[in-house]
Amino acid sequence: MALVIQKYGGTSVGNLKKIREVAKRVAERADQGDQLVVVVSAMEGETDRLLEMAYELTDQPEGREIDQLLANGESISISLLTLALHSLGYKAKSLTGRQVGIITDTHHTNARIIRVDADKIRRTLEEGFICVVAGFQGMSPSDDVTTLGRGGSDTTAVALAAATGAEACEIYTDVGGVYMADPSVVPEARRLEAIAYDEMLELASLGAKVLHARSVEFAKRYGVPIFVKSTFGGGQGTMVVEKQPGMEEVTVAGVTSSKDQAKVTILGVPDRPGVAALIFEAVAEHHVVVDMIVQNVSEDGLTDISFTVSRNDAVRTQELMRKLAEEIGARDVSLDTGIVKVSIVGAGMRSAPGVAARMFRTLADEGINIMMISTSEIKISCIIEEQHADPAVRILHKAFEEDAPAIGGEADTS
Ligand code: ADP
Ligand code: ASP
Ligand code: MG
Repeated sequence: MALVIQKYGGTSVGNLKKIREVAKRVAERADQGDQLVVVVSAMEGETDRLLEMAYELTDQPEGREIDQLLANGESISISLLTLALHSLGYKAKSLTGRQVGIITDTHHTNARIIRVDADKIRRTLEEGFICVVAGFQGMSPSDDVTTLGRGGSDTTAVALAAATGAEACEIYTDVGGVYMADPSVVPEARRLEAIAYDEMLELASLGAKVLHARSVEFAKRYGVPIFVKSTFGGGQGTMVVEKQPGMEEVTVAGVTSSKDQAKVTILGVPDRPGVAALIFEAVAEHHVVVDMIVQNVSEDGLTDISFTVSRNDAVRTQELMRKLAEEIGARDVSLDTGIVKVSIVGAGMRSAPGVAARMFRTLADEGINIMMISTSEIKISCIIEEQHADPAVRILHKAFEEDAPAIGGEADTS
């Protein structure tokens, strides 16, 4: 008897009809004699709806209360799916994050799992129940409800697969797998049969929301293969695994963009030792994460320093820099929130020369200006104007798709 972990996202349980469909799928799998843990997200739109209500009441809601509120979305889904399974005649039990022993740190709204106490799940499975588990939810050591960050149900599923020793984790969603680019932007995007953990981790961190980045981190650390598949569309899906010999070699596995970007520029900064340190010490002190940094060539002893931060941190970083600019004698501080980061990711870049040049040429031929660039071994990111985000993803997909062997190609957006 195999232990199977499945996760169904918000669109897959978006209404009662879909919940009944998911229940049927789970039941078919149970009929094959497998033990099943089914992780579910909140119904489509529910998390946003709850969040909007909180922000109508206050501009700065406390993280603890947000978590207490948002966790309800998943609690509703597990009860409904469990009732649907009962109505089909199956033994099933709904379990919250707390009940399945998902212990996290206290970082409300973006908590990290520290350990999973899987005894309760094991006992419930042994008693012959299908376990229907709330994704996204955790519990802090001080007994407060926490949540794992937007999209965090994927991480619940992979963490449970690791904790229970399941062979794999199946993630069911509204597209047919992981594509070379978001199929809602590039409908003809190429489906990947397999992708290495490292590449998937970069893609997820750089904006491809098909998997929560931390779920990929977990999968890599514990060697759990992830299968991403369409809930209702069928198809082969995509396998996320450790890079194996024989896995198709492509230079670029994926193209993605992230809108969560803002650029802060400090103009007319005196070009002397210690100034950059002062700027970034001030930013770090306020727990703002800096992504890219560019310092211009200095002229007459003055230079400009630009860096990017998350849009949520943009305004307070600008205020912080305004104060600092006065202290260090800089001229002004500007903020640009109309930017995006477009990235290409691929392990094959390590050995293929000229990838960066090709990316820049492709953008240039489309008249897209690059404001900032950053690279790592397996990715290249460019900051461009927000209006160019989707065209850039489309042309980069086209430019690098030609390298890849022809498979898939059907964007199954059921
Ligand atoms: P779920 O509710 O099932 O968790 P999400 O909305 O979180 O689903 O993730 C699925 C979505 O991810 C797809 O609808 C698709 O638009 C988006 N997406 C972004 N990049 C990619 C990609 N490279 N491959 C597949 N889907 C992607
Ligand atoms: N419901 C949460 C969200 O919308 C978690 C998830 O869907 O994975 O972000
Ligand atoms: Mg998701």
